[in-house]
Amino acid sequence: ESLVRPAADEPERAAEAALRPRRLEEFVGQRVVRDQLSLVLQAAMGRGRAPDHVLLSGPPGLGKTTLAMIIAAELGASLRVTSGPAIQHAGDLAAVLSSLEEGEVLFIDEIHRLARPAEELLYVAMEDFRVDVIVGKGAGASAIPLSLPPFTVVGATTRAGLLPAPLRDRFGFTGHLDFYADDELERVLVRSAGLLGVPLDATAAAEIASRSRGTPRIANRLLRRVRDWAQVRGDGMLSLAAARSALEVYEVDERGLDRLDRSVLDALCRRFGGGPVGLTTLAVAVGEEPETVETVAEPFLVREGLIGRTSRGRVALPPAWEHLGLPVPTPSDT
Ligand code: ATP
Repeated sequence: ESLVRPAADEPERAAEAALRPRRLEEFVGQRVVRDQLSLVLQAAMGRGRAPDHVLLSGPPGLGKTTLAMIIAAELGASLRVTSGPAIQHAGDLAAVLSSLEEGEVLFIDEIHRLARPAEELLYVAMEDFRVDVIVGKGAGASAIPLSLPPFTVVGATTRAGLLPAPLRDRFGFTGHLDFYADDELERVLVRSAGLLGVPLDATAAAEIASRSRGTPRIANRLLRRVRDWAQVRGDGMLSLAAARSALEVYEVDERGLDRLDRSVLDALCRRFGGGPVGLTTLAVAVGEEPETVETVAEPFLVREGLIGRTSRGRVALPPAWEHLGLPVPTPSDT
């Protein structure tokens, strides 16, 4: 299992939860979003009202869930957590909505994956604070409107563009999270090392940060693996040498590319001659879901200038060939 993929298992989640910043102040980086959000929250609290619904967009692992928790904490409100895929039927959502208490924050992760009927129910609830409860079945069924106390939806999505406009328009504020700079990731790492009680050298922090693809979740995960290495094969110190050795064991290269990234590049260059090749074809070639390639590997590869997206598909850019140690084809070769 790769180190840079979304976390799934329980121990990983628990390890992540332990490193979560609890307040807006502790949240490293994302100055713009932090600032905007702080205004939204303070203004709402000043008025004694629930704030507008908040949409957070951005690639996985940049802190959307963390921010949702922080929003609730800053408001002194309780948080309910659900996700698009977890809501199978509109009725499931109606049940959640009708049990909300005044001022509660409802976090809906992967909100772009809500089924249509649930989505429609949601935007009525967001706009009018009302949900229609269906009573009975078939021809005798009737809808009883139930009014809801004021609450705040915090939606998270990897791409705001995936949301249908009527739903997107119900959010009063959209914060876009961007990849973190290396020095911000170093601050995340130093903070995490402090919480874990492990001695992390500044040079090691810089090394881990530079291989973390702009993503705090990855930085924290790599930190835990370096800690493992230092404990088992080193002297417990998280030095530069320990960081390098550990990351070599876990196949995270100097640019932070892992096995999936390299196999995407490899397929693109060797198998498809540098492209253009469609996302689905590329995903099949590396044995992954198109969504995984698109949301996990691609944003980083595009940002690093390794691959490009064109209307005819994905293409390898010169640095991709160089990274694989292959000669960069000249235009006459293609
Ligand atoms: P996903 O959408 O995949 O759930 P996410 O964007 O919600 O990802 P989080 O779960 O919030 O990401 O964050 C992942 C981890 O990164 C958390 O454990 C958290 O500790 C850490 N983290 C994220 N952002 C920050 C930050 N700004 N400062 C410090 N730590 C952070």
